Amino acid sequence: MTTRIHIFSGIKNLAIGLTVTIRHLFSKAITLQYPDERWEMPERSRGVVVLLSDKETGELNCTACILCAKACPVGAIQVERHRGEDKRWKLDGFRIDNTICCYCGLCEEACNFDAIKLTGKYEFSAYDKASLMYDKHRLQELGLDVDYEPKRKKPAPKPAAAPPPDAASAGAKADASAPAKPEAAEDLPAAESRPAGETAPSNTENSDEEKGA
Ligand code: SF4
Ligand code: SF4
Repeated sequence: MTTRIHIFSGIKNLAIGLTVTIRHLFSKAITLQYPDERWEMPERSRGVVVLLSDKETGELNCTACILCAKACPVGAIQVERHRGEDKRWKLDGFRIDNTICCYCGLCEEACNFDAIKLTGKYEFSAYDKASLMYDKHRLQELGLDVDYEPKRKKPAPKPAAAPPPDAASAGAKADASAPAKPEAAEDLPAAESRPAGETAPSNTENSDEEKGA
């Protein structure tokens, strides 16, 4: 009885396998004629890392903050920078060692400036390892056709600098900066209404009275 069950089970499984084979035998073959044809990679693929450029100016978005280099778990990113006259970091060099990059995407997550991105590009095999060290220009070139949605708002343009004050306005400014006429004097009783021989009280006395009050 057990033997019969095994025989029927084997025939059933054989029929299922043959059904799959026959179905594929008559269906259209899915063969990609690489390199004439290429797969379209999903939007969030993690392939070659590139540097992104400003869509308007064409300059790299990188601010040389080195957050990506600090986030990289394998130390594949090297950033060279210096302080500019405006005290901001200026990017001198940027290198990614593709021989050790593990395409984790941490550099892209760490970057706050839409400057670095993993792409769906995957064809970068080479005969020597040295050519897999991509420099700033190569990384920028690879990123030129990469579309991205800028997440960072650009700072509003600064208002135009005020024109230098001319002599007249400088004089007016000097008047404005001159010590103001003490208002207390206006509040003092007029000389005509003051009894003869009485002098106007000084500011000091005024304040003493106020204190006494
Ligand atoms: S790519 Fe981004 S995180 Fe890396 S240095 Fe440039 S701005 Fe900073
Ligand atoms: S993808 Fe990962 S390993 Fe590659 S450079 Fe970025 S952080 Fe480093």
